Amino acid sequence: MVAPDRIAESGRVSGPHGVSEEDWAAARNRMVIDQLERRGLRDEELLRAFRTVPRHLFVESDDPYGDRALAIPSGQTISQPYVVAAMAAAARPEDGYRGARVLEVGTGSGYSAAILAELGAEVTTMERHPSLGAEGVDRLRRAGYDGVSVVVGDGSLGWPDGAPYDAIIVTAAGPSVPKPLLEQLSPEAGRLVMPVGTREQQWLTLVQRHGSAFTRREVEPVVFVPLVGEHGFEA
Ligand code: SAH
Repeated sequence: MVAPDRIAESGRVSGPHGVSEEDWAAARNRMVIDQLERRGLRDEELLRAFRTVPRHLFVESDDPYGDRALAIPSGQTISQPYVVAAMAAAARPEDGYRGARVLEVGTGSGYSAAILAELGAEVTTMERHPSLGAEGVDRLRRAGYDGVSVVVGDGSLGWPDGAPYDAIIVTAAGPSVPKPLLEQLSPEAGRLVMPVGTREQQWLTLVQRHGSAFTRREVEPVVFVPLVGEHGFEA
């Protein structure tokens, strides 16, 4: 049943902001063209995921598809769409995300976990703030991503129960890559992406594991909220 006040004048069903689903889909298409393709992202699977996941269900904003980071509760932020995409592209397993085991540290709104789930990954996401974890679960369910497991806890320790991971994406900044995360990365070409640096400024860092060997590459300068935990910054 659709409430009468949600039927727009055109007769189309409209969402919480009086915007129709078609309008949101158009906003997503524009986001993909203007923000992702224009900056050189070409992976069609990845672009499809960004055209599909309803970012407006994960953030409270009049411009949920804008080219910027947005505030979410508990003083945290959700990254700009391009940064979410660049991290997913950097961490992409050799055979793609479908069926891959992925650990995300920093659930926040749940948006980036939804993108990874849309790509076909088996996603575990960790959040240190219990309220954000609970809201993340609700949002992911509402958007139809029921398969994502949300774990409340210190993600700097990783989640050994689900290891080894084909990809680990840390969406909060730490002084170094936590050792437990390196240990939980698959020895068979596991890839980890994380902002590493000071509290004020970091380099998006890509680590690749082959057996006991780890190679490291700095991708681009970024600014993220801090990873707070045993292997992160102090609260
Ligand atoms: N990926 C999120 C954005 C994350 S913002 C999204 O798509 O919305 C970074 C998140 O990391 C914040 O919610 C913060 O609370 C969380 N965080 C910080 N330190 C953490 C830790 N040690 N373990 C788990 N989550 C942590």
